[in-house]
Amino acid sequence: MSETVFSKIIRGELPANIVYEDDKVLAFLDINPVNPGHTLVIPKNTETRNIFDISAEDWLAMTKAVHHLAASIEKATGADGVNIMMNNRESAGQVVDHPHIHIIPRFKNDGLKPWHHAAYKDDEAADMLRKIREALQ
Ligand code: 5GP
Repeated sequence: MSETVFSKIIRGELPANIVYEDDKVLAFLDINPVNPGHTLVIPKNTETRNIFDISAEDWLAMTKAVHHLAASIEKATGADGVNIMMNNRESAGQVVDHPHIHIIPRFKNDGLKPWHHAAYKDDEAADMLRKIREALQ
């Protein structure tokens, strides 16, 4: 059981600007948006915390809703694109321990640079590939 502010929103105990709802999923405006229209898509199931324990069924319901919403959010906000992202665990920036996918409208020259990149050195990519493939066994 993961009791969070999102559980309260699901139960209607906290107000939220609901964008979309179906039997498995709720989508609402982020209270502190990166850009206006920033929307969070969450499962109604309050038993899980993030990508590591969510069921495939809830994950599919979330991603189906994200797919359904992305174009409408882009259109409604007049954005030039959207970021779809999810933080999993504290080190990755997760603050609320309930699975949630961010849909963030993006605008040309909005100045946001979410990632920086660095090239692999020497055998780093091959080593990493081997480790990930082993972990998949
Ligand atoms: P995280 O950092 O965990 O990926 O994102 C959590 C998000 O939830 C943040 O963007 C934050 O603004 C949003 N948030 C936190 N509390 C509330 C709330 O009570 N209502 C709404 N609508 N959004 C919230």
